[in-house]
Amino acid sequence: MAKKVLIVEDNDLNLRLFNDLLELEGYQTITSSGEGDLTSLARITRPDLILMDVRLKSADGLEATRRIKKNPDTRAIPVIAITACAMAGDADRILASGCADYLTKPISLPWFLGTVRKHLHNHEAELNNAA
Ligand code: MN
Repeated sequence: MAKKVLIVEDNDLNLRLFNDLLELEGYQTITSSGEGDLTSLARITRPDLILMDVRLKSADGLEATRRIKKNPDTRAIPVIAITACAMAGDADRILASGCADYLTKPISLPWFLGTVRKHLHNHEAELNNAA
């Protein structure tokens, strides 16, 4: 079955780009501009992975990640942050929020797909270990 990726991004062009890249790779996608309750969205749609824009118009992507990581229903889902800035302190802040990894804009295609693949693979290995 195709892996499902929830893409949270408030920039339409980026959202479409990430969506198209992942669909071309055979992933099932769900897209959100970041409005509303992202923990509920994750609970309802049960993605295998979440791409989270750090700077959303309607929310703080890292705060949304912290909430997702606090909820027992969604905490196991790996979250990859997408950020425009990646100075040393930012990386620490991103990882401290519970994100498994981060990508910096502009994204490089091999890095983007490689990171998504790696974390989906790790997540599946964890689920198998837990079973
Ligand atoms: Mn943004």
